[in-house]
Amino acid sequence: MTADIRVLAIETIILDLPTIRPHKLSMVTMNRQSLTIVHVRCSDGFDGFGEGTTIGGLAYGPESPEGMKLTIDQYIAPLLIGADATRIQSAMDLVAKSVKGNNFAKCAVETALLDAHARRLNLSLSELLGGRRRDSLPIAWTLASGDTAKDIAEAQQMLDLRRHKHFKLKIGSKPVADDIRHVAKIRNALPEIATVRVDVNMAWREREATTAIAALADAGCVLIEQPVAGISSLARLTRRSSVAMMADEVLVGPESALEAASARAADVFSIKIEQAGGLFAASKVIAIAEAAGISIYGGTMLEGPIGTMAAAQLFAGVKDLQWGTELFGPLLLIEEILAEPLIYRDFELQLPTGPGLGVALNEAMVNRFRRDGKPAVNLRVAG
Ligand SMILES: [Mg+2]
Repeated sequence: MTADIRVLAIETIILDLPTIRPHKLSMVTMNRQSLTIVHVRCSDGFDGFGEGTTIGGLAYGPESPEGMKLTIDQYIAPLLIGADATRIQSAMDLVAKSVKGNNFAKCAVETALLDAHARRLNLSLSELLGGRRRDSLPIAWTLASGDTAKDIAEAQQMLDLRRHKHFKLKIGSKPVADDIRHVAKIRNALPEIATVRVDVNMAWREREATTAIAALADAGCVLIEQPVAGISSLARLTRRSSVAMMADEVLVGPESALEAASARAADVFSIKIEQAGGLFAASKVIAIAEAAGISIYGGTMLEGPIGTMAAAQLFAGVKDLQWGTELFGPLLLIEEILAEPLIYRDFELQLPTGPGLGVALNEAMVNRFRRDGKPAVNLRVAG
């Protein structure tokens, strides 16, 4: 780009949104979701949006919605105001030099810059990131009500709606025997078309994981996600497991992915754009996995529609996506904050074809749910 196009302003807005039901994980039960929305305005009139979202405040990771807002407002925005809006990698290099860590906040800002630039170029974000291999993505659903009968009913409903056929069970907060019974009951209650996977969120020690993995295999579970903490422990379990193993929490960017791939810590990597540190970093994690012959799974931080679509645009270009994705975050929210809702049908999320993320926020809904109660300005997007 030859024209002088600069970043004019970066605004952050925290939205508090109610969820359809409590979402129970081994470390926290979520009753609402808070999104930190980043709005970047550029001197040529193009805008972009990004999203920083966590699971249960600080229960899952080191960043919170409030912390992201502070990091972006106080530290990242001042670095980027006036920067070349068309040189996003250079802009993010500048941020990396002065802001350590804070992967989620960086991802939200980088997404907004990329959204604006893709709109400027009249390309979908997936085209800007290297091109699409597909126009829709398989979407797993997480059963996390904490109650076996409720989970079975919910899975049946999803199958009837043809919205999801792959189900991830959040386990690890109860005794192992209870968890295994829960998994077996759900597997037995569902038709053959459905698959059952589990996510333990590191709740087990290696010894109990060894026994539990064998029992999960017998129960018909096909994928086990992050049963323990730590790359070496995960690698030992993966070597012994007859069921495919997936790494999630240990993957916090390309360096950790290289370490996990070298140790052959898992058969599948769950890629989360926020955890990786942004779309560019997530692309590197994907490249490392591909080079090591490790499959890719499209993970979620339970983002709302902006963060979900950013991830979807990236996964649209991934070659080996045999385990699909879990980009269902927007479906956990009761309220629609987009002007046009995302389309989930026939077990897949359809990718929009428009420029950038291909989605626009509904201004009235943003105003209604923003935590600070201030009215939003200029949320309409050019291009
Ligand atoms: Mg996980």
